[in-house]
Amino acid sequence: MASKDALKELSSTLSKARILLAADVDASLVSDAEINTLVARLVEMHKADAGLSVATKEEIAAIVDQITKEKAPVPVDVKRKAGFTAAASEIDAYYKITNKERLTTGGSIDDFVDHFKNRLEKIRRILEERRIGASIVQSISATRSYMSGREVTIVGMVTTKISTKKGNIMVVVEDSTAEIKVMFMNGTSHQSKDLFESSKRLVNDEVVAIRGKLSNQFLMANEILWPDVPIKEQKTIKGDIAIAFMSDIHVGSKQFMEKNFEKMLKWLNGEAQSREDRIAGKIKYIIMAGDVADGIGIYPDQEYDLAIHDIYLQYKLLFNFISMIPDYIHVFVMPGNHDAVGRAEPQPALGEEFVKDFKLDNVHIVTNPSYINLHGLDVLAYHGTSLDSIIRAIPDLSYAAPEKAMVEVLKRRHLSPVYGGNVIVPSKEDQLVIDKVPDILHMGHIHKNGIAEYHGVRIVNSGTWQDTTGFQQRSGHIPTPCMLPVYEALAGRFTTIKF
Ligand code: FE
Ligand code: ZN
Repeated sequence: MASKDALKELSSTLSKARILLAADVDASLVSDAEINTLVARLVEMHKADAGLSVATKEEIAAIVDQITKEKAPVPVDVKRKAGFTAAASEIDAYYKITNKERLTTGGSIDDFVDHFKNRLEKIRRILEERRIGASIVQSISATRSYMSGREVTIVGMVTTKISTKKGNIMVVVEDSTAEIKVMFMNGTSHQSKDLFESSKRLVNDEVVAIRGKLSNQFLMANEILWPDVPIKEQKTIKGDIAIAFMSDIHVGSKQFMEKNFEKMLKWLNGEAQSREDRIAGKIKYIIMAGDVADGIGIYPDQEYDLAIHDIYLQYKLLFNFISMIPDYIHVFVMPGNHDAVGRAEPQPALGEEFVKDFKLDNVHIVTNPSYINLHGLDVLAYHGTSLDSIIRAIPDLSYAAPEKAMVEVLKRRHLSPVYGGNVIVPSKEDQLVIDKVPDILHMGHIHKNGIAEYHGVRIVNSGTWQDTTGFQQRSGHIPTPCMLPVYEALAGRFTTIKF
């Protein structure tokens, strides 16, 4: 429904075209999303009229009806292929969702202070568990009473990083008690060169430990210790099941590759494609890690890129597709920066208004991020909006290899280390700290597939189902659309299937 303001806007836009709204036209007749189309059609309809003309209630109702019919998604119908019995349909599902609920905050200065304090404490604990050789000092302020020359390990948040005139790097590290200037010298020995290079990888707002020698008010760094993840052994899973990873479907975009998406749905339903068919029947879970719809008003001039201008219809079409996934497969739908939940992270699960008409027992609406345990495997799924700021901040990262950026995120034990690079809610508890090391880390957002393994953690970026956009082409970014990574749990193996 349109708001009163929208109706006012409609009437003033029309009056410029010398069209008056009939007195009985009220806000319940039109929806906000349709106003532009409505104006265009009324102007077209009345263009032959000399002087003022009146748009009647009936005319408006007819146009609204017409628009709705045009935009209604054409439902495709994918049926289970006769004779196709999927092994996964014989296996009971086991899943446990741990959503990252938003802990509400007023967004005051105090909330920010508490938020960063919590980040510091959580990551300090992780660093302490690593039992790093030198013990960590109680606080940065404690180092003030120490003699120059003493070796210490401090833990704090990086607040500033600058190159000095002499070509060294100076980093300011802060905890809740004080800050200290840490120097990384651009030396000639191998050791100092390595350290100097790694100091370039420090990003603002991340929490690290630094070992060094106190020298007056400075700390001369000897080593950077990232919280990192311990080496994990691969879990053995009972049940020959597979997990498929998707993201960035962008339903509603003109570039959404509907035909390819349908092909994949048919494949899930047993329609032969290729030698990878045996995998289709093993799929028990599908994670959709955000940007499931293209959204409305996400970036300037997005309306030109949209095939569906109504957010409800975008989700209707998405859930229409999801309903064609065989019902023994459990589907987890997470929002991303394009979805209708607001950008601030953690993002809540998609609202009831978008999902209420499409409820299915095998479809689960989850938060971004969330931990999803599948058959004993811990999957940490996160859309990956922060990858933009990580790629910008760390020298050798690029959009061509999102999995490398994901390794850096894992090493920092925080899903969005650069504050301000990505909107996050400053809640009392920092929900984006990776406190539990997952077996699989799943992200999207970059629209480029990538698979890696780091310390036993499987890393997967699930690419996209959206064709290359003009913007991506101009910025030299080449997406990899319609490539579905599937993880076979028993074999511990990824296979990527092209549709
Ligand atoms: Fe996307
Ligand atoms: Zn995204």
